[in-house]
Amino acid sequence: MKVLLALGGNAMTNADGRARPEDQISAAHVAMEAVADLLQHDVDVVITHGNGPQVGNLLVKNELAASVVPPVPLDWCGAQTQATLGFVLMNALDAALAGRGVARRTAAVVTRARVDADDPGFLRPTKPIGRFLPAEEARVLVEHGETWEDRGVKGWRRVVASPEPLEVVDAPAVRALVEAGFVVVANGGGGIPVVRDADGTLHGVEAVIDKDLGAALLARDLGADVLVIATDVPNAVLRYGTPEARPLGEVTASELRGYAAEGHFASGSMGPKVDAACRFVEQGGSRAVITSLDHIVEAITADGGTVVVPDPLDQGEN
Ligand code: ADP
Ligand code: MG
Repeated sequence: MKVLLALGGNAMTNADGRARPEDQISAAHVAMEAVADLLQHDVDVVITHGNGPQVGNLLVKNELAASVVPPVPLDWCGAQTQATLGFVLMNALDAALAGRGVARRTAAVVTRARVDADDPGFLRPTKPIGRFLPAEEARVLVEHGETWEDRGVKGWRRVVASPEPLEVVDAPAVRALVEAGFVVVANGGGGIPVVRDADGTLHGVEAVIDKDLGAALLARDLGADVLVIATDVPNAVLRYGTPEARPLGEVTASELRGYAAEGHFASGSMGPKVDAACRFVEQGGSRAVITSLDHIVEAITADGGTVVVPDPLDQGEN
């Protein structure tokens, strides 16, 4: 069985969201213990991960050091966080595997994801990133071409394009490593956004890709059997946060789409996970599971979490 495991922010930061190196390393150890448990079963695992807090930290460094060292663009921030988190996750996973006597090698791939230069996201940036700033400081950055929005009492916040990922450019490299037996960390942060020029060359763009949508695309490209989206809640929940909350167990993609259309899943958090899970099974995946990190072993046996399965009519079409 081939599993694409998407790790949320809680796998790489403190419960309170702090991302000091020691917080990231200890969170990675907890997450990789769970992954090592998974690897005691007969599975191939590809790991992808979010990078929001890490990119946020790099942006602060960019801002504060701009008069001393040149700021780097957002695609470079994505590449840097993929490399650093890949390194941290490999170390943690190697240790967890050694502790169980599991002889699997790990690898991390700096991964590009192609987006469309004409994606509407570039005309109307919507994804908030980095820290809040007072209006005067935000104005300076707006003069430098960035888009910032007034977010009320908290101050101003940068918004960037979040285009649709169309192709995981480096999926063949990931596939080759999986076939050679490696546990691969890839496409972190949804992939480094690149566009293809008329002459075929690729260049990075100022955008961020949704990690969960990037995970669904990579899962499809790799022919994964199961997409597991590991976050900090055990289920997607209807009427979340109300007295009538109901956690979802097994659900078909179209049932789940229906709940999404009714507004049950917040757009900046559970919404993209639900969308990614539906896309994966609509495009031929056999199962997608949204659950918490401590339930990922049950996820491969479909014993827990929100289990998204294809619609009955879709079965056999792919
Ligand atoms: P990650 O960092 O793992 O990608 P997010 O913080 O983006 O996770 O999304 C997980 C969060 O989504 C949960 O902690 C929860 O607060 C929130 N959430 C919003 N709507 C729902 C819902 N309908 N069911 C469950 N969780 C929800
Ligand atoms: Mg989170």
